[in-house]
Parts: sequence; C-alpha cells; structure tokens
Amino acid sequence: HAKNQRRGQCVRFSAELEALIRSEQAFDSALQAADIASEISLAFQPIVSTCDLDLIGYESLARWNAPGLGAVPPEQLIATAERLGLGHEVTLALFDKVLDALAQLPARLRLSFNLSGQDLCHPPTISGLLDRITASGCNPARLLFEITETSLIADLDNAREALATLRGTGVKIALDDFGTGYSSLSSLHQLPLDMVKIDRSFASRLDEAAGRRLVTAIRNLARSLSLECVIEGIETENQLISARLAGFPLAQGYFIARPATLDEVIDRLEEVEQLQYGTA
Ligand code: C2E
Ligand code: MG
Ligand code: MG
Ligand code: MG
Repeated sequence: HAKNQRRGQCVRFSAELEALIRSEQAFDSALQAADIASEISLAFQPIVSTCDLDLIGYESLARWNAPGLGAVPPEQLIATAERLGLGHEVTLALFDKVLDALAQLPARLRLSFNLSGQDLCHPPTISGLLDRITASGCNPARLLFEITETSLIADLDNAREALATLRGTGVKIALDDFGTGYSSLSSLHQLPLDMVKIDRSFASRLDEAAGRRLVTAIRNLARSLSLECVIEGIETENQLISARLAGFPLAQGYFIARPATLDEVIDRLEEVEQLQYGTA
C-alpha cells in the first residue's frame, strides 16, 4: 500500500512537472511569436509623500497580455525573455514606453523603471538606454532606475560600472526590495545610489512594536547615508501612519493606489487638478 502511495505521488509530481514544462513552452512560443512592442505595456503605481499624500511620481511596472495566456506576471515575462535572448528587445521596448509616458506627465513628476541584472551586464542594453535618454530630450533628473541586490551579485563590477554610466546622464538609481538581498549593508556603499526602496515585507512589520523598531533602524541607516527612502507595500491606513512616524518621507502601496494604465493615471491627475483649481 505504502509503495503504491509513493508511486502515486511520483505520478502526480511528474504530471505537475509536465504541466509546468508545457506552460513554459507555451510562454516561450507566445513570446517568440509576439509583436513585443504592441503586446507589452506598462502599469503605473504612485509614490507619494507620507505627510500629505502629495504625488511625487510613479513606478512603471511591465505588463504582458499574451493572447490566449492572459496576464503574465512581469517576473515571468522578464525571465522568459531573458531565457530566449529577448531581454534586450523587451527592456528597450518598455523603456520607449517609459519615455513616452514621461513626456505626457506633468514635468514635476518622476518615473521609475526596473532594470534586471542581465540588463546591467549587457552593454548594448545600457547604450540603448543612454541613446534613448539623449534622443528623447527628457530631463534625466525625472528618471529613476530600480535595481535589486539579488540582480547584482552575478557581476557586481560590471553592474557598478553600468550604473555609474547611467547616473552620469543625471538619472537617479534606486536599490529595490532593500532588506531581502544577500549583502544589504555592503551594497549600500559599494554602489552609486540615490535611493533605497524598503521591501514590502517590512510594511506589514509596521503593525507590531518590534517590527517598527527594526524598520525605523533601516530608515535611519538610509538617512545617515543621505539616501532617499521609499517604503513599499503599504496596504492599510495604519501602516501609512506608522511609516510616517518611523520617519519615511515616501511610500507606495495598494492603500495609496494600485498600479493603473497611463490613461487612468492621466484621468485621475486631471480630476485632482479640477478639484484643486476649479477648472472644470
Ligand atoms: P518591484 O519592482 O518591487 O515592484 C513592486 C511590486 O509590488 C509590483 O508587482 C506591485 O504591483 C506590487 N505591489 C505594490 N504595492 C503593493 C502592496 O501594497 N501589496 C502587495 N502585495 N504588492 C504590492 P508587479 O507589478 O507584479 O511586479 C513584480 C516585480 O516584477 C517587480 O517588483 C519587479 O522586480 C519586476 N518588474 C516589473 N516590471 C519590470 C520591468 O519593466 N523590468 C524588470 N526587469 N522587472 C520588472
Ligand atoms: Mg521596483
Ligand atoms: Mg520592490
Ligand atoms: Mg520585487
């Protein structure tokens, strides 16, 4: 009986594995067949000041609406693209959309774009980004590139050089998901950084006293290094209040707003302006 059970588990496992492989193949062929620039898009999630909810800018997040496969999570889009050698094409197609959005949004607003470790270690991608920054005529100070620590460990020297080159144009660099990587503390002074984004797993820790002390200590560390600081994943009003009390000037999360399309974001901006200036 025990033997049968084990064999049963084995069959189920291989069926799951098979389904996984099949779905991976489905993503692969969908992306290979895709007109990338038209199937992928960006969602925009606001970053606000914690004291008055003043809008500072947005983070852009990749979306892939694959025909027949539905909404594919961005991590899977990027991983699939990189496995197929399409990482360069996807990154630059997304960045074109970022620059488009930047031109449509009010000049006081900033926009962040996520870069992968592979992006940073691929010189043609870096020069593609540089060319586009120049050609667009945008104000580079409005642009932020977000990178994660985990994406840097493969090739820290190259990544650091690429970041320094990008930063030379006047764009800012943010360390994303801070607190979850391998070498959080050492990367802080080894990298050309302007901002840290505290991982969203810390937002829920704001609900208890010990967690608040930890999060406050992280915030003080960033402050002592003169880095701007965003706390991500704020899902409740209490977390927002705690984040403000812990000294976080900036926050992002579902409580403030979910990611939305550029059209939605622009509609909301116009509504707010009508309320403020009565220009309806
Ligand atoms: P990330 O850069 O840390 O982005 C934040 C993620 O947290 C987003 O998920 C966002 O929708 C989600 N989020 C925001 N607020 C909350 C909240 O209050 N609660 C919870 N539970 N989640 C929240 P998304 O859009 O699925 O992106 C996931 C990750 O995919 C990103 O994490 C980033 O690492 C990667 N990614 C997204 N777009 C791109 C891109 O254009 N290029 C690259 N290389 N990676 C990207
Ligand atoms: Mg990010
Ligand atoms: Mg993050
Ligand atoms: Mg992340």
